[in-house]
Amino acid sequence: MLEQVFDDLLFEKSGGKLINEIAKHMHETINEIQGKTITWNEPEEELNFWKEFLENGQNEDFFSEIFKRTTHTHHPKYVGHQVGVTAPITILTGMLSNLLNNGMAVYEMGMSPNAIERVVIEKLGEKFGFSSQSGGFLTSGGTLANLTALLSARKAKVAHDVWNLGHTKPLGIMVCEEAHYCVDRAAKIMGFGEQGIIKIPAKNNFTMDTEQLERYYLDAISKGIHIFAIVGSAPSTATGAYDNLEAIAAFAKKHNLWFHVDGAHGGAAIFSDTYKHLLDGAQHADSIVIDGHKMMLMPTITTALLFKDKEHAEHTFSQKADYLLDDSTMDEWYNSGRRTFECTKTMMCLHWFVLLKFYGEQLFNQYLTRQYDLAQDFAEMINSHPDFELAISPMSNILCFRYVAKGFSDSKLNELNTMLRAELLKDGEFYLVQTKLNDKLYLRTSLMNPFTRINHLNQLITKIKMSAQVLLNRL
Ligand SMILES: *Cc1c(COP(=O)(O)O)cnc(C)c1O
Repeated sequence: MLEQVFDDLLFEKSGGKLINEIAKHMHETINEIQGKTITWNEPEEELNFWKEFLENGQNEDFFSEIFKRTTHTHHPKYVGHQVGVTAPITILTGMLSNLLNNGMAVYEMGMSPNAIERVVIEKLGEKFGFSSQSGGFLTSGGTLANLTALLSARKAKVAHDVWNLGHTKPLGIMVCEEAHYCVDRAAKIMGFGEQGIIKIPAKNNFTMDTEQLERYYLDAISKGIHIFAIVGSAPSTATGAYDNLEAIAAFAKKHNLWFHVDGAHGGAAIFSDTYKHLLDGAQHADSIVIDGHKMMLMPTITTALLFKDKEHAEHTFSQKADYLLDDSTMDEWYNSGRRTFECTKTMMCLHWFVLLKFYGEQLFNQYLTRQYDLAQDFAEMINSHPDFELAISPMSNILCFRYVAKGFSDSKLNELNTMLRAELLKDGEFYLVQTKLNDKLYLRTSLMNPFTRINHLNQLITKIKMSAQVLLNRL
């Protein structure tokens, strides 16, 4: 059995076949030879299929069934969740990482990837205007990176040694109510409870209302909560709105708070000549998160966590009190497991490096600028349609809109837009999602695909309009 499993000739044959299938998939999705982005099955139906397949399915059908039963991000009509459309070369780096399986935690189990990771991190730090004192690492996702950053923040800003001695007094962080739920989750994991997450209301454009920071801060302090960090979203997930990072930075400085920027989605805008201004203020951040698997064309899952001062990354998980840390081991940059939450991780740096090396920063500049520009054009198109309404004018490539029919209440319109989205999913030509904002249901698009053009979006609008006319008769 083991001989068969590790048979290299057999691998070459089946692997070659799969590479052909992958290339064909890219060709047929990108060029719309395949009509659908998703062929919808109900969860129970899907479950039964795979139960049956394990018993009676043909092995040679396995890969083709996976292709059939997944959502196709390479299709230009994929306008749904914020998942990266992988650059083909990163499919290959993924394979290499899976083969070599160097776990990265110690230098000996990942010599080149540990060095490459440092090169990538230094490059990103430079882009944000950080000094040579900056550092960081790659880790498994924005969720984990945000948690790690807040753990670093607590180590750095709270005098009491919570890591070793546990909590003795209530701690808290400040964040906009529109932030990604993982920030909330991180605070809960850290034991701050509901009272330790100071939620700052959003303005009408769904960005943090920074005018209210002082009031909320004083109120928390008066309740005995020690606030040690503030998180800015760049942008927030639902609407793609960038918080005013300059204002948050100034507030953080005034009160000696750790300033964390959650740029999981849009931190990549730092590469865009046109849109990097959205990140003004991020240069003052103590830590920044950027997902490679969102706006940087990489496969899941790879996230950069940058620190303005690399020492903080060293201390996050150290058991010893800071003053006991042996200076000689302080800069063991090549043993990445000291700083990361995970022990074993994939050689995720290969994706970043190969894109930077083979195509250069221009790739990220062109891609991000194109996608954000497209959202502007789409917004203009929606504004010109009396039957459609935008939630806000988009600041990134995330755009929320809804169908509005005259004479219908918001609750009827919610019903209508829910039905529209369900129809679109069953139809499968386009894939988009939905979100609720101020009790109104919106259709939500993230324009992730580098081949989506304005005429695709025009087709989408036409399709929704036709569907709405049918549905309106049923309401
Ligand atoms: C996607 C996202 C996250 C979560 O990142 P994962 O990589 O999915 O864990 C956090 N914050 C924001 C703003 C995001 O868009």
